[in-house]
Amino acid sequence: MYDFGSVSVGQTTWTRQHPPSSYIDELRAGMPVSRDMACQLIGCAEQDLPALLSAATEARQRFKPGVVTYSRKVFIPLTNLCRDYCGYCTFRRDPGQAGAHTMTPDEVLAVVRKGQNMGCTEALFSLGDKPEIAFPEMRETLRQLRYKSTLHYLEAMCELVLRETTLLPHPNPGLLSAEWIARLAKVSPSMGLMLETTNTALLAVGAAHDNAPDKIPARRLRTIEEAGKQNVPFTTGLLIGIGESLEDRVDTLLAIRELHRRYGHIQEVIIQNFRAKPEIPMHDSPEPTQGEMMRTIAVARLLMPDINIQAPPNLSAPYYDELLDAGINDWGGISPLTPDFINPEKPWPHLEQLKLRTEAKGYVLRQRLPVYPEFVPGVIKESGLLAEKVKAAIDSEGYARRPA
Ligand code: SF4
Repeated sequence: MYDFGSVSVGQTTWTRQHPPSSYIDELRAGMPVSRDMACQLIGCAEQDLPALLSAATEARQRFKPGVVTYSRKVFIPLTNLCRDYCGYCTFRRDPGQAGAHTMTPDEVLAVVRKGQNMGCTEALFSLGDKPEIAFPEMRETLRQLRYKSTLHYLEAMCELVLRETTLLPHPNPGLLSAEWIARLAKVSPSMGLMLETTNTALLAVGAAHDNAPDKIPARRLRTIEEAGKQNVPFTTGLLIGIGESLEDRVDTLLAIRELHRRYGHIQEVIIQNFRAKPEIPMHDSPEPTQGEMMRTIAVARLLMPDINIQAPPNLSAPYYDELLDAGINDWGGISPLTPDFINPEKPWPHLEQLKLRTEAKGYVLRQRLPVYPEFVPGVIKESGLLAEKVKAAIDSEGYARRPA
């Protein structure tokens, strides 16, 4: 169900403004969406929402008519040690804390092989950012594994998956230098880093990123830009409801759009909603409403009509299919095997249910690889193992090949 009342953002409650009717008229006339217009639309009143959703749906249909995608994946939490302390994170652990774990190569391969038997085509590597900088225990683990750093270990595990299985790695290791983007691009067809927000006020004491040096927006933008310079298909996105304003959401979308305009490498923008959990510092922060999700997705679609827009269905259950009305064209990674280690209390929908709900809205559900079809040609034009593995995994349109 949508909630179209006032919007609570951090400590501030916004009363929805009725946008000047000219914005809705401009929208109907197909005018490009300016920042001012986007700021009005993202906080629009209930009576204007149908016009916003219908414009977003039209834009979405012009982009990829009739098709919604997902990636059948296994989730590999390579290490949950992390040097950052984001106020909303349940994934990270300190060494010695219950559940702290760095996977061994055998554990990685065992999960990926099981996933292969279940038709998965993506190995999503999620891990904490540079834990060895903060923790001698991680330095010791890496020494025993015979790797110099977490990134060296990640690179080796991506190569192992590529060599030994049919799954394609998609690493999400946090900030990356130009050198590491180049190295990981040799063993994975795509990679990702959530920008989350461009609001630097969230680094202040007591805010979501007050003890998270890797969440400085300028540093994250630099990583995304470097990936663009190297033509690496890149996934990024927003985390909404962590203390940012509605204007911040628009500015974060515009920052991503600008990088895509310059480099053309953003394959996907995720709109992820904060979910409160008892064990996190932000346990009593308000969650974004479904209405906020719908508005943010619709504005993202209008600002970026030629980029895949994704929202995770498990974070909007049970009404996740409504997100299709706002202009998404992808459900992200869904695993038939492993839980969502970032939001373990929110199981992914059963794939059959996802298919039924997607079809009920008039779309065909198709399985994609971690790299989207339109970015596949850039990956397979190179020679080597990565290109060979991607060629073996695609069908004639660049989607995941159906099992014979
Ligand atoms: S969200 Fe990522 S960077 Fe932040 S604490 Fe969790 S694992 Fe670390």
